[in-house]
Amino acid sequence: MGRDGTEERAGAGVPSLGVRSVRSAELSDDRRGRRPDASGSRRPVTPREREPDSRQGHLPDTQQGMRRRNLSRVMHTVAAHGPLSRAAVASRIGLTRAAVSTLVDELIRTGLLEELGPERPARVGRPGSALAVSARGPAGIGAEVGVDHLAVCAVDLRGAVRARAVRQVGNRGRAPEPVLADLVSLVRQVIEEAELEGLRPAGLAIAVPGLVARDTHTVVRAPNLDWHDADLGTWLPTELPLTVDNEANFGALAELWLGDTAPADFLHVSAEIGIGAALVVDGRLLRGSRGFAGELGHVPVWPEGPECACGGRGCLEQYAGEEAVLRAAGLPPGAGRVAVLAERAAAGDERVRAALRDAGAALGIALTGAVNLLDPRAVVLGGALSRLAPWLLPSLEGELGRRITGPGCDVVVSGIGSDGPLLGAAHAVVRAVLDDPAGVA
Ligand SMILES: [Zn+2]
Repeated sequence: MGRDGTEERAGAGVPSLGVRSVRSAELSDDRRGRRPDASGSRRPVTPREREPDSRQGHLPDTQQGMRRRNLSRVMHTVAAHGPLSRAAVASRIGLTRAAVSTLVDELIRTGLLEELGPERPARVGRPGSALAVSARGPAGIGAEVGVDHLAVCAVDLRGAVRARAVRQVGNRGRAPEPVLADLVSLVRQVIEEAELEGLRPAGLAIAVPGLVARDTHTVVRAPNLDWHDADLGTWLPTELPLTVDNEANFGALAELWLGDTAPADFLHVSAEIGIGAALVVDGRLLRGSRGFAGELGHVPVWPEGPECACGGRGCLEQYAGEEAVLRAAGLPPGAGRVAVLAERAAAGDERVRAALRDAGAALGIALTGAVNLLDPRAVVLGGALSRLAPWLLPSLEGELGRRITGPGCDVVVSGIGSDGPLLGAAHAVVRAVLDDPAGVA
């Protein structure tokens, strides 16, 4: 997959970045949605107040737990709606101005919020000072291990990408250790750039094209890299909290957090070399009992079809994966091929258009099973699929429309493009900071 960024400075050896494995607050979604009794609250909890709370884990219902939860509510409110005055924050989360001022002062002291100066001339009393999430301080470091590239970025608490590095490199069949040594040199480069701007890394999240264990650092199986039971924490000896997750999961989270159109329930389908899917239900990932849900690429489309790297036959990936489409289009595999497919299809190349039409039909057939089973509000096409959507959609929607039992399912195209997994990874770290600001102070 082509990336617009290019090269990197070579890092020196395997670095001492050091990682301890910590599941980010978002990713501990088995705990999300629960909240302690609001027995310490002065007023009834309204649905509006519950919303920020639902993003964080269960905390003991003590004064300390209440304080941490309220710090998170202030952070989420300012991040989502800022700049805001203290009074506006108080009104949005239903606490007194005095209580909010105490929380805000703590968040300013720890560098997570900043004051932008007087908001406007005061009508009565002191002018309200607009609060914003700090553009300095903690940053999420996101990384992506692709079959033909490595990428790293730093995202600040406002959600802006502040540093980025990409290296085109063939990782298929390479052992984890050299791949991670390369990745860590990019991570170091991005952290150095971010630190020059007053940022400090709050954690590292890595998107991989494979199944990740619930421990969030072991890649159980990545067929397109040929990795098995690889504990990435072993090769990333750093002090940074580490989370590893499937690229499709991070892509879906990016859509949920950053997308324009995603509803709270959707099936996100994306493609790099493989095809991945992730189901978001009520704003949370559905991971399955072992964390392996979403392997749409290995749903059989034709049981007697070509052999697949997974050991099965006729999987969706064998019809709609990048290499299968290139083969059908008569093009060699390699980096940047999706752009070539899009250019040729746009220019009217009938062989390429036919290959994409067939891929769309295969996607439609595989998605029929998922849609009939799960009834998502929408199917979102992300990654390379979004770029090829004009030529995939007619046959995809045709198959889906003919086969699904319900009245219909919207198929929408993501505007995030191929950066979804990388941005989703970085934002997962940022969300963890917003979920528990006291944890990074
Ligand atoms: Zn397969």
